[in-house]
Amino acid sequence: MKKMFKKEYLKKITWWASSVIIIFLFFAFLLSVFTLQGCAGDVVSRRQGQAVGNISDDKDSQDGDGRTSPGEIPQSDKGNNEEGGQLEEGNDNPDNLNDAGEEQYEFLSEEELLKFKPNELGEVMVLMYHQIGNPESEWVRTPENFKKDLQNLYQKGYRLVSLLDYVRGNINVEAGKSPVILTFDDSTLNHLNFIETDDGYEIDPDCAVAILEDFCNSHPDFGRGATFYIYYPIPFRQPQYIKDKLEFLVCRGYEIGNHTYSHADLSLHSDEDIVKEIALNAMEVGKTIEGYEVRSLALPYGNYPVNIDILAKGEYMGYSYTNEAVLLIGSTPSPSPFSTDFNPLAIPRIRASEIKVEGQGLYDWLDYFDACPGKRYISDGNSSIITAPRELMDKINNKATPKEGSV
Ligand SMILES: [Zn+2]
Repeated sequence: MKKMFKKEYLKKITWWASSVIIIFLFFAFLLSVFTLQGCAGDVVSRRQGQAVGNISDDKDSQDGDGRTSPGEIPQSDKGNNEEGGQLEEGNDNPDNLNDAGEEQYEFLSEEELLKFKPNELGEVMVLMYHQIGNPESEWVRTPENFKKDLQNLYQKGYRLVSLLDYVRGNINVEAGKSPVILTFDDSTLNHLNFIETDDGYEIDPDCAVAILEDFCNSHPDFGRGATFYIYYPIPFRQPQYIKDKLEFLVCRGYEIGNHTYSHADLSLHSDEDIVKEIALNAMEVGKTIEGYEVRSLALPYGNYPVNIDILAKGEYMGYSYTNEAVLLIGSTPSPSPFSTDFNPLAIPRIRASEIKVEGQGLYDWLDYFDACPGKRYISDGNSSIITAPRELMDKINNKATPKEGSV
């Protein structure tokens, strides 16, 4: 009897012990699943047009500003991002249509998200150059230093996009790379210098355009593009070549920008004079290169007029102009064009200089982005989709940047 009781007792103990072990193993299994998801990526769902990506908790991907979890959002249709995930591109991009005419998108895989760490709500450097020549000074960059700048930008993963493409949100750079915009003010001779020869002319190899062409040709994945903010009466200072130079620039994909007709300080002029200054510049360029529309303005001296509405649109003697972007002088990176912080009519620029930059020059900001990569715009490689850390999603601008054809 006593023996039987003992046997019964042992049986119960074994049953209880087995139950406890099974329950323990079950909870251990659940815990491991959640832990693995947290480490390797928490992809909520992923299907065309509305997948929600969320890679998180990879300690290596975190940096000083707490960036942790990229999610992907197709561009435009931006009023629909409550999920913190996907928003669809409008129907204006035929690249997104398959053979059946349905919209489709190629999203980055989890591995690619972890590898590239895209952040298309990050900041963008719009660089401001003035003269390229000797000796180096506050507003002059030597040809050697300009080459050094290009080399540094290239090595650090920056790729050229034009100012208007940036403003319009047409940022086509490969995944993991950052856009950078080059601007040159004042249309000096050393931006584009034609040296006369027996047969015509050749381009001075030390002028800005020649250096840029040379570098872009030897680094085809660097991209192309720069905007030259010109003023009159003699942009680039060789009156006999004004038309040739403007055509040369436009044919090679550079943009012509408005720096007013006479480099006027717009804070000192009447509305009528300001409209005239802007309109005459755009009108001259349009006359020289038929049909070319100047669409952006760099403020001389960085000075705003009292009435800023006339910068974006105006009309003078039957000629009307539109500026999609207005550029300032100095001194910080500019917000992503998809960010609520982005104001196309007040785009700050960074001085591409190492003299008197007071901690706000090109190399200061390159160091800053090296130290805080989460602050930097990093592309997902697909201009139809916006990808950014989930915690930045409330910074998405719900009013889509209008996309227009390049001029
Ligand atoms: Zn200027």
